[in-house]
Amino acid sequence: MVKSEAVHKSFGAIEVLKGIDLEVQQGEVFCLVGPSGSGKSTFLRCINHLEKINAGRLYVDGQLVGYRQKGDKLYELKEREVAAQRKDIGMVFQRFNLFPHMTALQNVMEAPMQVKGESRANARERAEKLLERVGLSDRKGNYPAQLSGGQQQRVAIARALAMEPKLMLFDEPTSALDPELVGEVLDVMRDLAESGMTMVVVTHEMGFAREVGDSLVFMDGGVVVESGNPRDVLNNPQHERTKSFLSKVL
Ligand code: ATP
Ligand code: MG
Repeated sequence: MVKSEAVHKSFGAIEVLKGIDLEVQQGEVFCLVGPSGSGKSTFLRCINHLEKINAGRLYVDGQLVGYRQKGDKLYELKEREVAAQRKDIGMVFQRFNLFPHMTALQNVMEAPMQVKGESRANARERAEKLLERVGLSDRKGNYPAQLSGGQQQRVAIARALAMEPKLMLFDEPTSALDPELVGEVLDVMRDLAESGMTMVVVTHEMGFAREVGDSLVFMDGGVVVESGNPRDVLNNPQHERTKSFLSKVL
């Protein structure tokens, strides 16, 4: 579903991704862990072309992200074509980023109507189902400011799912939450994983990675240091850098 071949990304003179090779299979929960500044968010943003890569190749569902290849040459896709690619990729951030002036229900209905031109009736029907799925049927008329962080994050997940994505990207979705609210968001993510969604999850929740993850990559300094089955990597890390990181977070 995602294939990254020697992906490089620099900001000015600073090289943040120094050749990332990895592959995410369809239906897999792929966890990305590593210290602050290691390039996790940058890599996630490259996957939906919020950042342009400087070298390498990135594919989602067999399609080159952001470019078209003709012979040996790459041509940048037009904004409209990039938008079409992004439609299939849902993203959930650390901060909930809900539209503050819209209710939970309106937040979930908005993109299908605006981006896909769906009718209000269809969008509402699906939004109601999605809010039920994340356990928020009774909160659909509430504005973000009237919801807890965990509830807002569940609305954010429902909103991303409303576009019927092939792939969901999560960037530390629970790290801005009070500890007692983390579980309800992880439960929703676990259900989503069980439904077969392909998920790339940047997280510090090692329990989640161990129980729900199919693969885990440890990144440091813009490279993949170690990868494999989450249980193997977490229980028996091979590299000093992985050991040192895990000793701080576990
Ligand atoms: P964290 O765990 O703190 O979220 P991260 O692994 O997600 O860290 P990134 O946010 O990807 O790390 O950042 C990697 C490096 O790239 C950092 O040194 C950061 O300062 C730098 N960086 C990220 N975005 C930009 C930008 N738009 N311009 C310049 N530098 C950037
Ligand atoms: Mg980050």
